[in-house]
Formats: sequence, structure tokens, C-alpha cells
Amino acid sequence: MNYKSTRDNKISVTSAKAIAQGLSEEGGLFVPESIPQLTKDDIMALCDKSYPERAYEIFRRYLTDFTDDEIKYCVNGAYSTKNFDSESISEISHLYNGTYILELWHGPTCAFKDMALQILPYLLSCSAKKVIYGKDIAILVATSGDTGKAALEGFKDVPGTSITVFYPEDGVSDMQKRQMTTQEGGNVNVCAVKGNFDDCQNGVKAIFTDAALKAELDKLGITFSSANSINWGRLSPQIVYYISAYASLVQSGDIEYGEKVNIVVPTGNFGNILAAYYAKEMGLPVNKLICASNANNVLTDFINTGVYDRNRHFYTTISPSMDILISSNLERLLYHLTGDNDKQIAEWFGKLAKDGKYEVTDDVKAKISELFWAGCCDDEATKGAIKQAFDEYSYLMDTHTAVAYKVYSDYKAATGDETKTIIASTANPYKFGRAVYEAVGGETAGTDEFTIIEKLEKHTGTTMPAPLAATKTKPVRFTGSVDKSGMSKVVLDFLKSR
Ligand SMILES: *Cc1c(COP(=O)(O)O)cnc(C)c1O
Repeated sequence: MNYKSTRDNKISVTSAKAIAQGLSEEGGLFVPESIPQLTKDDIMALCDKSYPERAYEIFRRYLTDFTDDEIKYCVNGAYSTKNFDSESISEISHLYNGTYILELWHGPTCAFKDMALQILPYLLSCSAKKVIYGKDIAILVATSGDTGKAALEGFKDVPGTSITVFYPEDGVSDMQKRQMTTQEGGNVNVCAVKGNFDDCQNGVKAIFTDAALKAELDKLGITFSSANSINWGRLSPQIVYYISAYASLVQSGDIEYGEKVNIVVPTGNFGNILAAYYAKEMGLPVNKLICASNANNVLTDFINTGVYDRNRHFYTTISPSMDILISSNLERLLYHLTGDNDKQIAEWFGKLAKDGKYEVTDDVKAKISELFWAGCCDDEATKGAIKQAFDEYSYLMDTHTAVAYKVYSDYKAATGDETKTIIASTANPYKFGRAVYEAVGGETAGTDEFTIIEKLEKHTGTTMPAPLAATKTKPVRFTGSVDKSGMSKVVLDFLKSR
């Protein structure tokens, strides 16, 4: 199976090329030319398999240019108890009556990004062997917090690779910043940007398409690749956990095969919810995909009106990994919903780049309303949701998960839908300890992150995960901060110094 660019159908590449390259030359994203189908028997056969075995079954349908041994090497290397604190890799917690929390944060950085970024280095090094033999890969990441750390952990000291991470100076939590600036490894570089996440992301995109820089790197024997969720190697691993969760619920008897479930996803760049869409299109019995946003509700408006308009105030919220006004992966959804209309996609995303705005056709609007429901909530409602879930179900959730939980209760109130529901939980609450502690009634003024965390442990009777505790004593290695215009120099200086 090949992968096409969303902005030019004539470009068709193998999965190895799509993964190694990240983004298509003309700025489009790679999408599978057809979506593999799972039958009832296929899904039932997953029930008594382990997570890596389930992942293998999904990957072999997408990465058809990888050998079976290569795929097994990738899934077994990534999804083991060496890296995850749970035998089942992701865990399902039954919150109340048919409402399940899918905990995707049992990996080394305590956020769901590990589910993809633990396997991406394996997928990328297999891909590189096939398509860019002999070159080193320089990974560039723009992060709103969690991707950066998860990518650093995934790539640290992987031979033949280096990684540079840019994060918005004031757009990440204390813990996120500490996790990144204390990163270990000989091939890693971390730098703050004076701007927001979109500035970081646009800066990285500009570096990727800078022909002069590319020529300079060619001389050094280096080629760029991306670990952002625009890379197919990031997106495909996320399809696995929705299918795996369904199989687990069938296996435990919580649902019967064929019973549809809703999936609620706290959304930023639209990667995680797009993976749920692929799972549904593969044949997983899914009712509604519920897209939850914080105060940066550009997606809520888009799903409800068909108009995407990024010309609006940018809010810095307590769910910073969703503080995004350009949701890159939406491009892939629209490509599929327009029936692979590359010209249309190029036109809309040209408008987005130029005017910050585009409107989809009535036909696409109708398809979106059929598939999705969207809602948003502000910081106060997010904190209210954390408190309510803790008081009522003794379940402590992080700020991102709480946005999903709140939007799901709005969905139920608005529709009366009682379909069983999986809420994607994207981070451990201790990653956002300050806001979570305030939500459950704690006082944080003038208190540092680690003191707050101790108080949160006492107050809730829960414990901070070991990888977060370890950052307390590690030395800070990276203190740099640049304007958006200085980003390419940071990259070049780092690569030349290696
Ligand atoms: C990245 C992230 C999100 C948003 O996921 P997208 O795939 O960008 O939509 C939500 N929650 C957390 C904790 C994250 O790290």
C-alpha cells in the first residue's frame, strides 16, 4: 500500500518513505491510499492477544513494505514493561455506568504521546535503512509540551539520529519545562521560543522547506525528519490503542462485539482524534467521535459551522497541550471526506496560510456532523470537572482529560445519548500538578511545583509517578531562548557541532 500527498495526488510513496520524510515536499501530508478493513473475526482474534501483538496486526496492514520481522522488532522494542509501568501498556478504568477512561499515559513521560513516540524511532530507523541509506536523521520537533519530552525520550542516544526540540517559552507547565530542560542523552538539543506553539510549529515547517538549509545539511550527510503528529509514523500507532481498547472491553465482557461506543478525545493538533476516525473507518464499531477543546475552540466552531477561522484570541490555558489554533491533522480528514480531492485541499490550506480562514462545502459539513460532535470548556469548568470526578468517583484526572470529561457530560445533556463511551485520558494528573491541586481545593500561591506535588499526594492519597519524581534532582542542561527568526540557526549550529 502506498501513501499519497493530500495536496498532490500524483505523489505516491511507500510507508518507509512517508515516515522517513515526514511531510511531502509541497507541504501536503501523507495519507494511506486506501483504509484497510478489519472484519469481526479480525477484531475478535485480537481479544486474547498482548498489546504488541495487537499492534503488529494493525501495522502489518499499513506498513506493507516492512517485513514481518521488522514490524515485530518495532512493536516488541517499543511496547514492553521496560518503558511502560503497565503490563497492558494502556489501561482502562471504569468510571461509572458504561463510561470508561482509557489511560494512555503509562509510558516514560506520563503522557499519551509515548504511545507513538516510543515506537517512532524504531519505525524511522527501519524506514531510513530502506530509503535514505547512509544518512543521519535530524529530528525537529515543535512542542506544546508533551511531544517534546516524549520525543526526547524516544530518540535519546538512538544511533544515526539527533533531535532538536522547540517549545513556547511561556506555554508549558513547570513540570513539562523541567522534564525537557533536564533531558539526558548525547544527541539531544532543547530551546525555548519567544512565542506560542503555532510560532514554534510554523518555524519548524519553514526550516523543513528551506532549500538552502537542506543543501547545507546534504553536505553534512544529514536529512531532516519530523516527529510531530504530521508524521504517519506518529499517527498509525495511535490507531492501535482504540482498537485494542475495544478488544479489551469485549474480552472483559463490558461490551458485546458489534456494540458501538463513543470515543471522546481532548484535542489540539487533531492527531489523536483522527486516529480514532481511522479506527472507525477500518471497521471498529464506533458511534460518535467527540472532539473536546479548551478555550482555544477553533475546532468546536469548525465542526459546528464548517468555517475554520484562526483569526481569534490565543489563550494560554491550564491544558497547554491543547493551546493550538492550527490543527494540522485536520487536513488528512478533509482529504478523505472530499473523496481525495487534492486540488480542493491545496486551495483551502492555501487560504488558511494566507487569510487564516477557509470554509468547507455543504457536503463535507454534512459528513463532519455525521461523524463528530464538538464542545469546549474554559479553565474554570475544567477545574470544576476535576473536582467533581474526584469527589464523586475518587478518580483524579489531569486538566486535558478533564476537558474531555466535561465536554462529554455536555454531550450527554445535549443529546441524551446513553451509548457506552471511552474517554481518552492523555496525561497523568501529576504532570499538571499545580492546576490539579487548585482544582481539588488546594492553595498554591508562592509554592514551587515539587512542594505542590507533595501536597497533592497527601490531599488525594495518590502518588506521583517515578519518572516525574526523578526530574527533581536532575541538573538543568538547556537554558537557550530565541525569537522565531533564530530557530534555523539553532538547528544548524547544533548539527554542525556534532
Ligand atoms: C498532545 C496532547 C493533546 C492533544 O492531542 P492532539 O493529537 O494534538 O489532538 C491532549 N492532551 C495531552 C496531554 C497532550 O499531550
